[in-house]
Amino acid sequence: MSLLVTVLGTGSPIPAPDRAGPATLISTGPARTDDHYLVDAGRGVLMRLAALGIGAGDLSAVLLTHLHSDHITDLNDVITTRWVMSLAPAPLRIIGPAGTRAVVDRLLEALGPDISYRTAHHRDLAGDHLVEVTDATHGPLGVPGRVAVRCAATDHRPVEPSLGYRFESLGASVVTAGDTVPCPGLDALCAGAGALVHSVIRKDVIAGAPVQRLRDILDYHSSPDQAGATAARAGVGTLVLTHFVPPPAPGTEDEWRAIASRTFAGRIEMGPDLHRVDVPPTTTTTTTTTTTIPRSD
Ligand SMILES: [Zn+2]
Ligand SMILES: [Zn+2]
Repeated sequence: MSLLVTVLGTGSPIPAPDRAGPATLISTGPARTDDHYLVDAGRGVLMRLAALGIGAGDLSAVLLTHLHSDHITDLNDVITTRWVMSLAPAPLRIIGPAGTRAVVDRLLEALGPDISYRTAHHRDLAGDHLVEVTDATHGPLGVPGRVAVRCAATDHRPVEPSLGYRFESLGASVVTAGDTVPCPGLDALCAGAGALVHSVIRKDVIAGAPVQRLRDILDYHSSPDQAGATAARAGVGTLVLTHFVPPPAPGTEDEWRAIASRTFAGRIEMGPDLHRVDVPPTTTTTTTTTTTIPRSD
């Protein structure tokens, strides 16, 4: 059985009209009843999920790579929408690096007025647990569904800690790197994976930015060729680029692919939001296929 990778949001902190914030969906199939794991919850994530016909209530778990604001902007929306739209109590399983539980606690505190309005108005919501949160470090994770998930430390310093995740189901495997520079933890997590989903920035472009604050981000992100080198070292089948900084100008996508292909000879995927990559079991000879789900905005 394949795993499906859908890049829900390929943007970054820089607002873009056609790229939502960082979020990737790993699924066992396209139906609502399949297992769906949301990695990061950036700007607009529920709109992108809605384009797939999937709601917050259909998520098996949310896994956060780190606590940078662009990766958790809409976590409150996922928590609240799941709560108020589920017909039975369905606490959202949230896993992230150390500090996640504290952030979610404060998020719920900020949502306090909303929670009190809704529980006063809808008696059946009173007493519900909205979330089940785990601070993770490394190794296997207990998540609902048919997919085995494990995590390892990545290197996004001074943002610390940060995690990459590996999803495995019946021979198919996908790693989500998040924001990171090349590092041993990610290399080990990626070994022999069918696909690697990796944040990338154009260092050749950002290095020329006239603002030091923008140039500061060079040291904790990977360029497409660094992501490619990680994929090549680990023997990954398909490299999926996302979290583009800066947002690619129309028609420049081939430049990004060309830079990644300097170090990686395998398949390179780079899509708009909702680009979907089908990752077959690595034990078969089936080739990776892709589609892009249309959206109307
Ligand atoms: Zn980011
Ligand atoms: Zn980050």
